[in-house]
Amino acid sequence: MTITLGLVGLGTIARNQHLPSLADTPALRLTATASRNAALEGLPAYHDIEAMLAAEPEMQAVSLCTPPQGRFEQAAAAIRAGRHVMLEKPPGASVSEVQTLAAMARDRGVTLYATWHSRAAAAVEEARRLLAHASIRRVTVTWKEDVRHWHPGQEWIWQPGGLGVFDPGINALSVVTRILPEPVHPTAAVLEVPANKQAPIAARLRMRTASGAPVEAEFDWLQTGPQTWDIRVETEGPEILLRQGGAVLLVDGAETITASDEEYRRLYARFAALIAQGASEVDLSPLQLVADAFLLGERRLVEEFHE
Ligand code: NAP
Repeated sequence: MTITLGLVGLGTIARNQHLPSLADTPALRLTATASRNAALEGLPAYHDIEAMLAAEPEMQAVSLCTPPQGRFEQAAAAIRAGRHVMLEKPPGASVSEVQTLAAMARDRGVTLYATWHSRAAAAVEEARRLLAHASIRRVTVTWKEDVRHWHPGQEWIWQPGGLGVFDPGINALSVVTRILPEPVHPTAAVLEVPANKQAPIAARLRMRTASGAPVEAEFDWLQTGPQTWDIRVETEGPEILLRQGGAVLLVDGAETITASDEEYRRLYARFAALIAQGASEVDLSPLQLVADAFLLGERRLVEEFHE
């Protein structure tokens, strides 16, 4: 049976990815939206999630595409109303608020799905398979993009809870925590924060695996020209290199996978499957690494950022 779903927040990612992916997911049917500023032709539109939940008692699920700050209240309202909830990444503005949501969902008997879209990139599961029994020597994450191109006008991203450069960086960490065969933890971090902002524009994160291999990550939001989203894993065996955020895989330099972007279609298919199974999926390890980077981070003020 088709699951009816409401979408909350009609911003960049809702329009670029959620709407087309929902249209391609027969198990789910978009039946209404909640947005302060926008509406979709032919669908009931509400100003906020509370109004949508009150007016749509038959709606079974909601998908939240709003910024992380404020998402807790929206998710909590949906769970209290007995609806299944899918969360954009990062799943919240803090680790503990999402743990609270997971407990609430468990108690209410609904599905909570904290998505990590980069984990759904085409080559990630194959990289995980290849690394399942590998001895890791070194991991190098290079995640450099142009904030002016990807996040124009997004003031929330610079506010507390907005993560700054860790908004893309957490995508890399979601892949690292999926493909490595052992846990990682940060040992040091440097956060470069513009003098007029609350969140970093660049960061370096030093981590190590449980068995002591170094994991170095460099995040930079001022890269113009070619954009870099690479994870290189050196092992005792073949070198595994994920490029383009996990869409491309090179094994010892030979390209073995290159695929088109199906990330959000996979996320919605997974959400429908979790609902059917009566299960939840909430892995907070990427958000925990970012929280630890902020706990350990040496904060350096850098020049003001203006769009
Ligand atoms: P966005 O373009 O700023 O859109 C967010 C939408 O949320 C807004 O358009 C607004 O929609 C609604 N909203 C509700 N409360 C808000 C508030 N206090 N401030 C700003 N907007 C508010 O952001 P986005 O890029 O779509 O990102 C949303 C989430 O998706 C973030 O967690 C982000 O990390 C994640 N994400 C983004 C991308 C990307 O490339 N942009 C990729 C993957 C994941 P209404 O006006 O309709 O209420």
